[in-house]
Amino acid sequence: MNSQNNNYCLQITGKSKLLGVIGYPVEHSLSPVMHNAALSMLGLDYVYLPFPIAPENLEVAIAGFAAVNVVGFSVTIPHKQAIIPFLSEISPIAQAIGAVNTVTRQGDQWVGTNTDVEGFVAPLQTTFQQSWNQKQAVILGNGGAARAVVAGCIQLGLAEVHVVGRNIEKLQNFQQSWQNSSFANKFPVHGWEELPNLIPQTDLLVNTTPVGMYPHIDASPLNAEEIGKLPDNAIAYDLIYTPKPTKFLHLAQQQGAITIDGLEMLIQQGVAALKIWLQRDDIPVAQMRQALQHHLGINK
Ligand code: NAP
Repeated sequence: MNSQNNNYCLQITGKSKLLGVIGYPVEHSLSPVMHNAALSMLGLDYVYLPFPIAPENLEVAIAGFAAVNVVGFSVTIPHKQAIIPFLSEISPIAQAIGAVNTVTRQGDQWVGTNTDVEGFVAPLQTTFQQSWNQKQAVILGNGGAARAVVAGCIQLGLAEVHVVGRNIEKLQNFQQSWQNSSFANKFPVHGWEELPNLIPQTDLLVNTTPVGMYPHIDASPLNAEEIGKLPDNAIAYDLIYTPKPTKFLHLAQQQGAITIDGLEMLIQQGVAALKIWLQRDDIPVAQMRQALQHHLGINK
């Protein structure tokens, strides 16, 4: 890892405006690197800071943010659900997912939304100019990130979206939790043992489990034989961004699948958040990507 970032120089002044990320812990967050690169590139007098906030301090921290005129902030674990009672309004997509990752000050109110869906969908839309309405997606895992992936696949218009998990009770709770949203009854859930029947018809296979994440880089949610059953031209998408590629994506590449890693999702959800905070569309995505790759020691 390399934290030196010699292309960007942020100058903090008496007028600097504040953005940031709340989490606990937050030291691992890559958001300050990519957001400050964008702010610097745009020549804006803003700074984006990490704020480690323990759960018991969330309410007082949010009140403090209002007092010091924070423009907006990202939200990561463990606050994505806990923040909701402290917001005046949340967007329909955040409501459906049940989690907020982006908060903005509007007048004297905090408004929350979730940009993970846009982040997930963006690499699919830019890479593949195809119609999705005859395609099948299989999503591995039913945790927090899977919620944005389910919403993204349904928004893209995939014909079938299947969620596969290892714990039937958690799977059923996952499905039940969408009942009051427009995504209700749009996807079946399956135990892991049903994968051999699903994979041969799968056009988009998404790993939302942490299996294979650094330091467990030799692990994969599926083995080579299972991945080998994917049809030609299938897409394998892993939400994990370290290592790059994961074993799952490496195996998929060997089987001839198209692969997408989690770094682009991370970047694109950040781009969507900056568009909201800065109220402009010209976010320098290439500089954000370059800053992250430099920070992670990726030579691409
Ligand atoms: P989470 O809420 O803890 O959910 C993890 C899911 O994976 C759960 O359904 C869990 O199953 C399942 N799982 C865990 N270990 C498993 C195993 N050995 N075999 C099968 N299933 C297993 O985590 P999350 O917040 O969704 O994050 C998941 C991954 O996505 C992490 O690697 C995270 O870094 C990544 N992520 C990336 C981005 C991005 O922008 N690229 C954004 C968000 C998350 P149970 O329910 O049975 O426990």
